[in-house]
Amino acid sequence: MTAVVPTPSRRSVELGPAVELVSKEEGHRQPLAPEFVSQHDFSPLEVAYDFGRVRREDIESGPRNIWRYKKLLPVPSNVEEIPNTEPGCTRLVRADRLAKALGVRRLWIKDDTGNPTHSFKDRVVAVALAAAREFGFDTLACPSTGNLANAVAAAAARAGWRSVVLIPSSLERAKVLTTAVYDGDLIAVDGNYDDVNRLATELAAEHENWAFVNVNVRPYYSEGSKTLAFEVAEQLGWRLPEQIVVPIASGSQLTKVDKGFRELGQLGLVDESPYRVFGAQAAGCSPVSAAFREGHDVVRPVRPDTIARSLAIGNPADGPYVLDTVRRTGGAIEDVTDDEVVEGIRLLARTEGIFTETAGGVTVATAKKLVESGQLDPDAETVLLITGDGLKTLDALGDRIGPKATVQPSVEAVQSALDA
Ligand SMILES: *Cc1c(COP(=O)(O)O)cnc(C)c1O
Repeated sequence: MTAVVPTPSRRSVELGPAVELVSKEEGHRQPLAPEFVSQHDFSPLEVAYDFGRVRREDIESGPRNIWRYKKLLPVPSNVEEIPNTEPGCTRLVRADRLAKALGVRRLWIKDDTGNPTHSFKDRVVAVALAAAREFGFDTLACPSTGNLANAVAAAAARAGWRSVVLIPSSLERAKVLTTAVYDGDLIAVDGNYDDVNRLATELAAEHENWAFVNVNVRPYYSEGSKTLAFEVAEQLGWRLPEQIVVPIASGSQLTKVDKGFRELGQLGLVDESPYRVFGAQAAGCSPVSAAFREGHDVVRPVRPDTIARSLAIGNPADGPYVLDTVRRTGGAIEDVTDDEVVEGIRLLARTEGIFTETAGGVTVATAKKLVESGQLDPDAETVLLITGDGLKTLDALGDRIGPKATVQPSVEAVQSALDA
């Protein structure tokens, strides 16, 4: 009798077109699993696909959320039937008045404040949750600078999962409340984001049923950012913009927007026209911008000190890949002061009626700086990614703005205040 040798027990997963994980440095392949670093070359793992044929009609007939792109994501083929937050299909707004103020010709705002928890993080968390469910996890967790905390707590609530969210104790009150309301386990840690992130990596090793969206299921999570690129291209009538400005925290979003554009080109869904990717950081946390300026390939970690807390990652995991992407496409990276960030928020609000958080202020102010320095071509069609809602960072505006006057309830009083 031959003994049956048990195969290593890893639940077999169905994640649509995703077939394997591949290491970023040496392209070493391994089966799909909740892992994020290659044991072969210690570089980050990325999802590899077998897309088959994908047609525009398949996408256009899909739901009005990111699952219309399910054939391009690591999610099960029945993903739209499973409770999730269904983010995406946010508006792409032609921004003529902001264009005029910046001195550029054709400008678009991708307004991701319209997601379920008001930031682009709903995209990445929805994909992470869909993959984590296939892997058999039952708890959704994260270290967060705020927006991710909101998105994880909300998605877990909707899925009926437990959530464990770790935040720096200094986080803005609005972001604490808008996470706590979903009633998961929210833990404030005395330390900065990089401390919280390290703690999460240790906890992930101890709790095998916890899916830390940006740690052990990071390869799946980060693919969610491609949907920004897919939507921009589809909303432009199936073509790529010539320039795009993307804020940088860990750098994942920027590299995946580029990956999304490339996949659309490879699949013949758009013409493979050239585009340039630009990165935006706050001066108080600008390790990638500094490396770009100095011509380095490595990113030297910094201790963050900026009002743009959602971008305050001092040791960005995808920093070197951001440098590769920006250099390969002929873009640039700049950083702006906190005063410029607030000016950026106000400029977008008064020209386009869109109220963004500090990260969006970084993007707008950086675009302005890139135009002024001649790095952004004013004649090329440009998209700015506005990734989060201003209601979450009201503190950043402080007492700089308010009513023009406080008056008695009379027509004369209002009139004289207006005339003043
Ligand atoms: C997290 C975040 C980003 C960028 O995140 P990456 O880590 O670089 O992918 C941009 N904008 C907002 C509002 C965010 O919360």
